[in-house]
Amino acid sequence: MKESLTKNTVCKICGATDEPMKSGIIDGEYISGRCRICFGLSKQTRNPSALLAQYKRERDREDNSKDIVQPFMKNKPNREFIKAYPDKAKELYTDKELKDNC
Ligand SMILES: [Zn+2]
Repeated sequence: MKESLTKNTVCKICGATDEPMKSGIIDGEYISGRCRICFGLSKQTRNPSALLAQYKRERDREDNSKDIVQPFMKNKPNREFIKAYPDKAKELYTDKELKDNC
């Protein structure tokens, strides 16, 4: 009799369905029916809501990375800021500063 695979297509921890499920021994405990992300979690961090919160934080950081660009670095115009906000940069810096930093 063949074992059905359908029971393992949903991660027991986070409910993911789009990952191939893994099984194996972690911390001396046999683990099955987990996506590859949850499979790698240690016992201490096996909290699905903590994992989701962490993931969300990382995504937020990526999405907002432009917003934390500082206009000045050591009192000099920040090239990254000029690249990210060319319009704001024109208002913020003098023509000479823009020329020197582009
Ligand atoms: Zn999972």
